[in-house]
Amino acid sequence: MAGRFAPSPSGDLHLGNLRTAILAWLFARADGRPFLLRVEDLDRQRSRAEFEASQLADLAALGLTWDGPVVRQSERDPLYAAALERLTAAGLTFECFCTRREIAEAVSAPHGPPGSYPGTCRDLTESEREARRAERSPAIRLRARERTWTIRDELHGEIEGHVDDLVLRRGDGAHAYNLAVVVDDADQDVDQVVRGDDLLDAAPAQAYLTHELGAPAPAYAHVPLALNADGRRLAKRDGDVTLRDLSPEHAWDLIGTSLGVAARSPEALLAELDPREISREPWIVTF
Ligand SMILES: [Zn+2]
Repeated sequence: MAGRFAPSPSGDLHLGNLRTAILAWLFARADGRPFLLRVEDLDRQRSRAEFEASQLADLAALGLTWDGPVVRQSERDPLYAAALERLTAAGLTFECFCTRREIAEAVSAPHGPPGSYPGTCRDLTESEREARRAERSPAIRLRARERTWTIRDELHGEIEGHVDDLVLRRGDGAHAYNLAVVVDDADQDVDQVVRGDDLLDAAPAQAYLTHELGAPAPAYAHVPLALNADGRRLAKRDGDVTLRDLSPEHAWDLIGTSLGVAARSPEALLAELDPREISREPWIVTF
């Protein structure tokens, strides 16, 4: 068993990300779990080695420690390919030739939320697929056998959500985030997923994919996001929100205050706060 924090190295971590990291650490340590760090750098355009370095340095500056080596998704392609092969062998994938635009313009799946995959390519014949392959290289999608799935979240309780025919591999051959995150968590024995609640909607389909890969579902804890005074997701332009502008002590002050605790270090926090008791409300960061 293990918990984890899995940032994307596309920028500096801001206060909201740092708070999520601290809470992920706290959830893991409170139950005696190892705490793993995984760099989600599948997006080669946006990922930068210098951001990875600054993110890890920032976490260390806050006093967070992690177990084992840092894992990078960009180095794990064979693992994702193997998982995709297993799903394909089980008849659980199909080739999708749709453009983004075609999906946006199609009528959504009958039971799906807006934007969900309409099923266009699910039942193409082999000769139809053959013809389409000449035009474009297909994405690979999950042939979902369930349309809803229920997860257990430590903060939100039972959440039932839609299961889409998720893209597992994009048309350009890159493995999709939804596949990588599920394969990594299963491979690393992560049984506790703590992350921002902007990902709560994605969790049921990811848990379903976990199930189809034969792994046990992790426990989830989707923690509140940090918002600016306008109620929008905190961003770098909102001011001094990264450790480029704030000392670690100042960041701990802001984060500790937001959690209603006197603790200003990971160890003190572990002694003082049960992470399951934190507020479910967003953290409005004001300066
Ligand atoms: Zn399609």
